[in-house]
Amino acid sequence: MTSQALLPVMEHFYTIQGEGAYAGNAAYFVRLGGCDVGCTWCDVKESWPLQGHNLMSVNQIVSEILKFNAKIVVITGGEPLLHNLDDLTMALKSQNLLTHIETSGAHPISGCWDWITLSPKKFKMPLQSIYDLANEFKMIVFNASDFKFAETEIKKIQSKNCKYYLQAEWSKRDLMYPLMTDFVKNNPHWQISVQTHKYLNIP
Ligand code: SF4
Repeated sequence: MTSQALLPVMEHFYTIQGEGAYAGNAAYFVRLGGCDVGCTWCDVKESWPLQGHNLMSVNQIVSEILKFNAKIVVITGGEPLLHNLDDLTMALKSQNLLTHIETSGAHPISGCWDWITLSPKKFKMPLQSIYDLANEFKMIVFNASDFKFAETEIKKIQSKNCKYYLQAEWSKRDLMYPLMTDFVKNNPHWQISVQTHKYLNIP
């Protein structure tokens, strides 16, 4: 295993997954540095540069995770697919950990995943190939025009098992959740995702 490659790790922590289908489950998060998507409302802009983050080997990352009781590991960013994640996911799976990723889909897939959350962004659209792999599709709602974008985007998904979530951008939540409630009542193939970790005041 070529596990000596270094990955820029912005932060890593054991917490509760707050969003989507696995909300409420304990999960170890690894936030990788680097993102070229450029969402204007991004709340982790400090993740954008590739440089300046703690460089960790796959072995170091896995050792940190194994200090805890985690069953699920969520690789997020930044945009984690800026990096080749084959070695990391192989090492996680060799420890019987479930591998989850949260991605904009703007870069080619690497790694072996148990759960892929695709969160498309208008600022740099996903590659077509990732729509076929997504287990859940998470649309961030920043303004009302995002409902139309969401409906257009899910037409690209073939799998009948993919789950569709709408989640308000945090600063717009008071404005958007009432609109989202009406939208989901009229379009019940969607579900609402709430950032429960923020209400629980955990990372
Ligand atoms: S893809 Fe994620 S990390 Fe990158 S700019 Fe958008 S919200 Fe921020």
